Amino acid sequence: MKSNGRGPREIRCPTCGKPVDFDGRHFPFCSERCRLVDLGKWFNGEYAIPAEEDQGEEDAPPSA
Ligand SMILES: [Zn+2]
Repeated sequence: MKSNGRGPREIRCPTCGKPVDFDGRHFPFCSERCRLVDLGKWFNGEYAIPAEEDQGEEDAPPSA
């Protein structure tokens, strides 16, 4: 038997991509660990919007 039928929309853990139960304790994450990992991303600035672009070119290419 395949458990591939139509069911409620499948939610996947944003961190590891595993299916998550709607009733999961850590929804929408599969576990507290993944939740913390996601939070960590925020704190680490991975999700941060780039404030500025490159500030000029420090290393000019050697003129030929
Ligand atoms: Zn996960």
